[in-house]
Amino acid sequence: MKEKSTTHHSTQVWTKCLDIIRNRVSPQSFNTWFKPIKPVELHGDTLIIQVPNKFFYEWLEEHYIDVLRQAIHQTIGPHGKLEYRIVVDNYKRVDLAEVHSPSGDASQVDFLPEEIKNPFIIPGIKHDRILSHLKQRYTFDNFIVGDSNRFAYNAAKAVANRPGKTAFNPLFIFGKVGLGKTHLAQAIGNAITHSHPKLNVVYITTERLTHQVIYSIRHQSMDDLMRYYQNVHILIVDDIQFLARRPKTQEIFFHIFNHMHQLERQIILTSDRPVKELEHMEERLVSRFKWGVTVDLQPPDFELKLAIARARLREEQVHVPERVLEYLCYHAGDSIRDLEGILSTLVARALFLQGDITMSTAQKILQYYKIQREEVITVESIARLVCDHFNIPLQDVKGKTRKRPIVEARQLIMYLSKKFTKHSLKQIGKFLGNRDHTTVIYACRTVEDLIETDEKYRQNVFTIEKKLRLSYSL
Ligand code: ADP
Ligand code: MG
Repeated sequence: MKEKSTTHHSTQVWTKCLDIIRNRVSPQSFNTWFKPIKPVELHGDTLIIQVPNKFFYEWLEEHYIDVLRQAIHQTIGPHGKLEYRIVVDNYKRVDLAEVHSPSGDASQVDFLPEEIKNPFIIPGIKHDRILSHLKQRYTFDNFIVGDSNRFAYNAAKAVANRPGKTAFNPLFIFGKVGLGKTHLAQAIGNAITHSHPKLNVVYITTERLTHQVIYSIRHQSMDDLMRYYQNVHILIVDDIQFLARRPKTQEIFFHIFNHMHQLERQIILTSDRPVKELEHMEERLVSRFKWGVTVDLQPPDFELKLAIARARLREEQVHVPERVLEYLCYHAGDSIRDLEGILSTLVARALFLQGDITMSTAQKILQYYKIQREEVITVESIARLVCDHFNIPLQDVKGKTRKRPIVEARQLIMYLSKKFTKHSLKQIGKFLGNRDHTTVIYACRTVEDLIETDEKYRQNVFTIEKKLRLSYSL
């Protein structure tokens, strides 16, 4: 009975403490360092709290002792005290936290100490240096920024400027294939190797890390592997989703992660899915991925694709008519990698054909990439596009309703259908709710008048026509 009531009290006291703490620290710190704490017991004036590990306890003592003391004094009184209970880590055997070098940056190592084996085994190369394994072509300078990737780009820049010192640790970048995860992650690494030449940056794919772990198990050289990673200051692990169902690699990575995080070293992870959708992954690892900040790369919009295409052609010094380029970008899918393939073909053709790139060349390239387009423009396809633009249901323009926005959309569909399709006025009227051809004539006049007199309306029509031209190479 007593046990229960002290638990109850400790919860109440801790909740009050949290209210005080919340106002004194950033939301990021609050979530990272205070949310995981569990109140255990109130023993007289002493509140006992449970923290996940030793590192956590040390961190709190080092950074938040004043905040904690004040919260305890305000809730329990001037004699209030705090005691920690640490959840024992089952993986003590390779607890890196206990063998770390005295302070983060003081342990800068240019060359690997003699006795440490380099797990990146490349025949014919001397392994006494920690190589970054970065590709130099991935830089911030040639990463084109648009709405779909701006947030991720800014976070990556912040990390590159102050590695390990921002709240973005780990920086978790997720996005579908071909959207620029590897590029952005490596751009951070490349920027740091220039601005902080003494820091050891290592880029590794999850697959390769897995191989290193398997090799170390087989050759009983796990200590070497761990010691190698203790000399890394910036670690980029690409495609972390492949850690799924790899318990041993997860375990090793967990310790590398803890070690680095404790020393404020920077960890950058990429994944094809958000943290919460990672499957077959140890919970304690997943929870660490949430410690920092998650940023996502969304599919590029038309403008971003166009900007990437223009940059690429400028680089290759190839000229392609703007209309053709727009057409290609419009039809290229979401993947920037695919867009790059299309552009490479385009460049090759342009060089081969001495610059004579036409719309039909573009169509052939798209066919080659099996990008399906609707061949013939119809009233139906115009109606879909217009409804999409004004965000109204297709069935409404086909129906009887006389509500103003619907009537306006319907009239515009009639006008565009007359302009771009081979259908007769009668056919157009029939498709749009069985109206007769005089209604269609009247609609076309109305739209023409509006285009003449209403600037905003004209802009709308212009945008829709542009989309139509791009869709059907009109
Ligand atoms: P992911 O790792 O997400 O599958 P990558 O980083 O490999 O994608 O990107 C695919 C290709 O697209 C790369 O060649 C990359 O340089 C290029 N790329 C992606 N995003 C951009 C961008 N914003 N600007 C320029 N090139 C980009
Ligand atoms: Mg990648």
